[in-house]
Amino acid sequence: MQTFEFTRPSDLTSAATAAASANTAQQGADIRFIAGGTTLVDLMKLNVEQPHTLIDLNRLPLGTVETLPDGGLKIGAMVRNSDLAHHASVLSDYPVLSQALLSGASAQLRNKATTSGNLLQRTRCMYFRDNTMPCNKREPGSGCGAINGVNRMMAILGTSEHCIASNPSDMNVALTALEATIHIQNGQAVRSVPINEFYVLPGDNPQRETVLEPGDLITHVTLPAPVTGNKSVYLKLRDRASYEFALASAAVIIKIENNRLSYARVALGGVGTKPWRSKEAEQVLAGATLSENTFRAAAEAALQGARAQSQNGFKIELAKRCLTHALKLATQTA
Ligand SMILES: Cc1cc2nc3c(=O)[nH]c(=O)nc-3n(C[C@H](O)[C@H](O)[C@H](O)COP(=O)(O)OP(=O)(O)OC[C@H]3O[C@@H](n4cnc5c(N)ncnc54)[C@H](O)[C@@H]3O)c2cc1C
Ligand code: SF4
Repeated sequence: MQTFEFTRPSDLTSAATAAASANTAQQGADIRFIAGGTTLVDLMKLNVEQPHTLIDLNRLPLGTVETLPDGGLKIGAMVRNSDLAHHASVLSDYPVLSQALLSGASAQLRNKATTSGNLLQRTRCMYFRDNTMPCNKREPGSGCGAINGVNRMMAILGTSEHCIASNPSDMNVALTALEATIHIQNGQAVRSVPINEFYVLPGDNPQRETVLEPGDLITHVTLPAPVTGNKSVYLKLRDRASYEFALASAAVIIKIENNRLSYARVALGGVGTKPWRSKEAEQVLAGATLSENTFRAAAEAALQGARAQSQNGFKIELAKRCLTHALKLATQTA
């Protein structure tokens, strides 16, 4: 691990100012915030991340969950994944988020991991995590080890000829279906980005994963008020029953009126280079009658643009079945 400067601000202004000034002094390249540290510290030990400046967020007052006047929810960046999963408002109004969080990692990791850290967790691609291997995301222009290598876990949606890494998060899939908004501060400036515009596709620049600029600090996430009478499910398919990343997952939120779907939001995990909102599936579901055929048609639409690599073709059918089953399960929830 390389040496680094470490600061522990106790208020938001100091943290944002520290990041903005380090950004100016160091031209933005190597500033990182540390939240739970469950992604960052691993990558620092592997010398994949080598920040010059590390700003600890653990003393900032960003650890609360609050109901908003419009009925939505405000989730502080430092709210731990366990606390969020078990929060009364999340359990009652956004159960899909609770289910997604509890399907991720282990209890110990969830106790440390935070909302903002989870949003920004890095890919589990083995070539990315190994400094001796080519990886365009870690070292632009060095090539992609996975395309002609071990690619069973990799993405089938949103890939490019330069990177096929999947976004590993479960929470992000639920937040995508819930149409969350990410709130960001840089120095004195604040802005908000809808989650569907927050992540960027790898394209020619896989090293860039989000719209964040150097020094940008995520302060909180907001959720719109829940749709009255909605039913939701997060379904995760993986190689073993716990402590494993998704091969395919689906977050679905639906509302049923007169045996028809009057509302549908669909996001997929484990298969996209970013948490994958499927408007194609939502279009098939909008106004449709409830049936296995409808659900399968939505799944076919969601995976229409899928592109398999040498070892992950099975994910196409797996993801279709995952979404079909998630929709069926959602109709059966109370
Ligand atoms: C063994 C193992 C198994 C796992 N299994 C799963 C799984 O099944 N499903 C799943 O979803 N996840 C899984 N994870 C990942 C885990 O969920 C993440 O490591 C965790 O959510 C990251 O949160 P953190 O607070 O520890 O982030 P950190 O490691 O502190 O930070 C992660 C990144 O976010 C940046 N960051 C953090 N906060 C901010 C902020 N406020 N503003 C700007 N940048 C910020 C950091 O600079 C860093 O780049 C697993 C992890 C491990 C180690
Ligand atoms: S898939 Fe992406 S992260 Fe993995 S080796 Fe290729 S460029 Fe790197």
